[in-house]
Amino acid sequence: MKNIVIAIDGYSSCGKSTTAKAVAAELGYAYIDTGAMYRGVTLYLLEHNISFEDLPRVEEALHQMQITFKRNRRSGRNELCLDGSIREDEIRQMRISNAVSEVSVIPAVRHAMVRQQQRMARKRGVVMDGRDIGTTVFPDAEVKIFMTADVYTRAMRRQVELAAKGEEVSLDDIVQNLQKRDYLDSTRAESPLRRAADAVLLDTSHITLDEQVDFVLERVSSVLVDGLRAAENG
Ligand code: C5P
Repeated sequence: MKNIVIAIDGYSSCGKSTTAKAVAAELGYAYIDTGAMYRGVTLYLLEHNISFEDLPRVEEALHQMQITFKRNRRSGRNELCLDGSIREDEIRQMRISNAVSEVSVIPAVRHAMVRQQQRMARKRGVVMDGRDIGTTVFPDAEVKIFMTADVYTRAMRRQVELAAKGEEVSLDDIVQNLQKRDYLDSTRAESPLRRAADAVLLDTSHITLDEQVDFVLERVSSVLVDGLRAAENG
């Protein structure tokens, strides 16, 4: 079976990563969470007291920092490592969510992350989620999904996730954070969040995780079947 790229883009906290992880597990594909990479860069800049406006220092930092993923054998998940240490919990905290969209707007940051993401998925057979996968990172992805959901549904899901990690945040603060990120992500000059012309829209406001995963898997099957037919006829 041909190895393909599955690009899942969309607004913050629509369930992209949960869906992408489940699809990757089902297909035996690698899963790459590109948002974690931007969060990792943000954590690095904050820890090194580098102002997001100081572009020469940001560029220097991009050469120095190492953003990688390490597989956690217990959970089977890929966890973000910064300079060799797993920082998965820290990058999910609200202080990072509040700053990340100001970092991901910087063209040098985007170029470095996009290059690394393209290298990581050279062999295809990958599910990648983010904001610009179907438009910039892999415009030739065989399956492109664009996820959206009502902002309150997204905020409530996010609140439950944060609470499970011991961070109590009000619904208002989460809604504000999501709206701010959506705005910054969609209006930036460099690879803004937008639906690729050939991406399929998936609204997750009123459907379950299983239904989201089935939706993507059905798209994958139909693309693979079409590919097989084309190969037989060609
Ligand atoms: O997916 P997640 O919510 O963890 O992403 C965090 C932030 O990283 C987004 O709000 C966005 O600013 C940035 N991001 C991006 N491009 C991607 C993935 C994430 O700009 N491909």
